[in-house]
Amino acid sequence: MSERRVRVRFAPSPTGALHIGGVRTALFNYLFARQHGGDFVFRIEDTDSNRFVPGAEEYIIESFRWLGLKFDEGVSFGGKYGPYRQSERREIYKEYVTRLLDAGKAYIAFDTPEELDMKRQEIQNFQYDATTRSLMRNSLTMSKADVDALIEDGNQYVVRFKVEPGEEIHVNDLIRGDVVIKSDILDDKVLYKSADELPTYHLANIVDDHLMEITHVIRGEEWLPSAPLHVLLYRAFGWEDTMPRFAHLPLLLKPDGKGKLSKRDGDRLGFPVFPLEWHDPKTGEVSNGFREQGYFPEAVLNFLALLGWNPGTEQELFTLDELVKQFDISKCSKAGARFDFQKAIWFNHEYILNKSDDEIAELFAPIVAGNGVEESMARVRQVVHMMKDRVNFVRELWPLCSFFFVPPIEYDEKTTRKRWKADSPQVMNELAEVLEGIEDFSIENQERVVMAWVESKGYKLGDVMNAFRLTLVGEGKGPGMFDITAFLGKEETLTRMRRAIEVLSADAAAQ
Ligand code: GLU
Repeated sequence: MSERRVRVRFAPSPTGALHIGGVRTALFNYLFARQHGGDFVFRIEDTDSNRFVPGAEEYIIESFRWLGLKFDEGVSFGGKYGPYRQSERREIYKEYVTRLLDAGKAYIAFDTPEELDMKRQEIQNFQYDATTRSLMRNSLTMSKADVDALIEDGNQYVVRFKVEPGEEIHVNDLIRGDVVIKSDILDDKVLYKSADELPTYHLANIVDDHLMEITHVIRGEEWLPSAPLHVLLYRAFGWEDTMPRFAHLPLLLKPDGKGKLSKRDGDRLGFPVFPLEWHDPKTGEVSNGFREQGYFPEAVLNFLALLGWNPGTEQELFTLDELVKQFDISKCSKAGARFDFQKAIWFNHEYILNKSDDEIAELFAPIVAGNGVEESMARVRQVVHMMKDRVNFVRELWPLCSFFFVPPIEYDEKTTRKRWKADSPQVMNELAEVLEGIEDFSIENQERVVMAWVESKGYKLGDVMNAFRLTLVGEGKGPGMFDITAFLGKEETLTRMRRAIEVLSADAAAQ
């Protein structure tokens, strides 16, 4: 077989918001495609009309736009293998269903849901397969004339795949190795339903992977049970030679305890499991998104890349390009990957540190303006420079930094009780005078002069600084005092000090 151009696909069903596990699957497909110079295809698997949710497709596209994962072809991107939406490929699937029927690899079955239910009650662990199909109403047990007559009369039917018993099926998985399964345990899966003239997932998935020349199927572990049937379908069509290689990615597990990560875990522990906020059109429920929570898309991708894969080194921070170079599908783990959302927060923090002050200032400036403060970008950047290492998200900056821009109106009670002593008004008045006399208001010079004054007076440095902080910030937080005063400037510093002395002395007198 000649080397085929690598082609992978991400093939979600538009049944709601894209789960973060789906994003991880798409990312691994993307990395694989890029590192092999191949194509990354976006297919919509919407043959189950009962589960279709309006807006889901647009949501998925918007998610990848935000994340910066680009598809080469597919729904909304075009390409020569289209259409890429399965609901637009009905006629194609019909042709392939007919092929299987003509070759005797599939058969028509008329059993109604009620009849199937009855059989289930009659026979323990009933499954439609080689041992039971002879008891059912299908084209294997009925004459061709009867079958034709039933169809003619408008009876609904399904087409089932005829699984031959006694075979060993090998799924050759890039992560799990040779997975062997006995065909006897498989049931004769429905491939097509006359009622809506649509194929089921299994048939459409295989036909499309074949026609779209997909070379590698990289998807979540939950699809592993379908893989043996898929292998049989490739064989039934005679497509063994171009059967894609499989890679079933490990499950994402709850941050705590056992089992698969679910939306409920996110609600319970307070983290998103969707890339973007999702408004459920049926229930009206709004679910949190990584974007709206203030995560950087690069941080989300970096975090997801290490769920089920690791480079075998200590490195944790990767650009997308580095991931493309280093990612190795065969090194993915078989065991589930714990979804440690604290780690996601850590990644976002690291990305804040790695971004320039300018980049963060660009994001913070609108928040400052939104709080009614007019400040130059240079001043916003100055605050960002002092404070960005203290936050995990840009949105955390304002509550932490607002005092730079807005003078305190109130003074935190607890801090005041602790830090504002009987002699504080007098000491602060003296300090204000000292500061007023400083010509060069640089951080270094202020520090030198103030320290000398504290020493000459025999004051306790801690007491002075704590009271000083209270006058400028209104509470006990913030960076170094002279970082604050240098930013505020002499005039604003003195105004704040004098006001605090007045208010706090009046408060003390009233008590
Ligand atoms: N439509 C399936 C899904 O929703 C695709 C599974 C596969 O990749 O084969 O994930």
